[in-house]
Amino acid sequence: MISPHDLFIDGQWRPAADGRRFVVHDPADGSELAQFAAATEADCLAAVDAAADALSGWATTPPRQRSEILRTCFDILTAEREQFAGLIVAENGKAYADALGEASYAAEFFRWFAEEAVRIGGDFRLSPSGDKTIVVRRDPIGVSVLITPWNFPAAMATRKIAPALAAGCSVVLKPASQTPLTAAYVVEVLRRAGVPAGVVNLVTPVPAGPAVSAMLHHPAVRKLSFTGSTEVGRLLLREAADQVVSSSMELGGNAPFVVLPGADVDAAVEGAMVAKMRNGGSACTAANRFYVHDSLVEEFTARITVAMKGITMGPGADRSNELGALVSPEERDKVARLVDQAVADGATLALGGETPEVGAFYPPTVLTDVRHGSEINQIEIFGPVTAIVSFNDVDEAIAMANDTIYGLIAYVYGDPAQALAVAQRIDAGMVAVNRGVLSDPAAPFGGTKQSGLGREGSSEGILEFLEEKYIGIEV
Ligand code: NAP
Repeated sequence: MISPHDLFIDGQWRPAADGRRFVVHDPADGSELAQFAAATEADCLAAVDAAADALSGWATTPPRQRSEILRTCFDILTAEREQFAGLIVAENGKAYADALGEASYAAEFFRWFAEEAVRIGGDFRLSPSGDKTIVVRRDPIGVSVLITPWNFPAAMATRKIAPALAAGCSVVLKPASQTPLTAAYVVEVLRRAGVPAGVVNLVTPVPAGPAVSAMLHHPAVRKLSFTGSTEVGRLLLREAADQVVSSSMELGGNAPFVVLPGADVDAAVEGAMVAKMRNGGSACTAANRFYVHDSLVEEFTARITVAMKGITMGPGADRSNELGALVSPEERDKVARLVDQAVADGATLALGGETPEVGAFYPPTVLTDVRHGSEINQIEIFGPVTAIVSFNDVDEAIAMANDTIYGLIAYVYGDPAQALAVAQRIDAGMVAVNRGVLSDPAAPFGGTKQSGLGREGSSEGILEFLEEKYIGIEV
């Protein structure tokens, strides 16, 4: 195992204060991978103290120096991409190709924000009255608590750590308890790259709630950046309110995938396979609801069923498998229950739907005649299930696409002009037109409605960790 199993506080790997540990499992067979330190509340507060002590030194480190450390992280992660991917497979269960894709995507955030670290702008202008000067600086917001989910255990961490460090903030990272090893590996890479003690800290309290609450009530904490479910996001916004901690939220999705009349069905199926099956369907960006025009629904269903049937499922450790395990037996059971309920609500099972006995696997599954508004259409499936609803009127498709509390991402396939017009009417932070994947470190990632607050990646991502200071000067 290439990753540490301890907490990282003030530049040192160390066990929890009370020595307690929790087990990390391989979801492909349920075996024990590691016993990871379970942080106490005191450990978490010590991590915040360390970040607070390190803040001014890091904030005043020349941007070029911060940039070069981030660039070194990119170089290390790129060179060690294969073993990094192996670690992601081991604790998350995803297919090796997905893990390799994530390893590269995660590394890219270090490269992108190494470039952004030396481009933090400000403003200098004359007041309209002509007798005052307005100076606006962008300063690091301060100690930042970063909380990440298990589905992209590497990329969700680097998408936060890289802009925070580029901005000059010190951080405490709390990864998901199912996937702490990948996060520990990323933190070890940061240490190897020369990040000073206290600037990056890692804690893994189990359960998370009380310790995270204590951190959000520590007076030094000025930023919370969370990626995870909308349910936990709401709860953390309430916690952050007590000390008015600035909060960025990357929450759940319920992506519609709209196939317009006249769309190229081959292209739509190809895009649908990526939008649905990237990360085995366990992605906030995963296409969750397929709205296909009546004139194309039969052909689309037949072709996607063939494509889904051709996918090989098995442990990610066998690199030829295209679909790995879900992260846990509980997650698998949730997907199975949603499919069973959809069938009970009148949907037809065109493929899959049977749960294998060993490991947290769920097979590629296609449901047709799904009723818009049924449970499977309202919440994230987070698994390899294609749920197809047909429509005969484009306005109706747009209304169904928007009929959700989520607004993270949508996909539209069709004639480019019509698809673009439809994209503009969909209420989401991101819309993919005739594309099956959008994630790009250079583009602003984030949602509307209950999918979140703020943006990650791009030049916007660093702004989440900067605060504007206006200095007014006479003349
Ligand atoms: P989750 O249950 O909300 O957990 C996310 C993180 O929050 C984990 O580190 C978890 O720690 C922690 N957490 C849970 N309960 C907490 C509490 N009461 N107080 C403080 N922290 C708490 O989400 P998940 O199941 O790991 O991830 C899947 C979700 O993430 C999906 O909804 C997906 O859409 C969303 N997601 C969104 C994006 C995006 O960019 N919009 C990207 C990826 C994933 P423990 O593991 O220790 O419980």
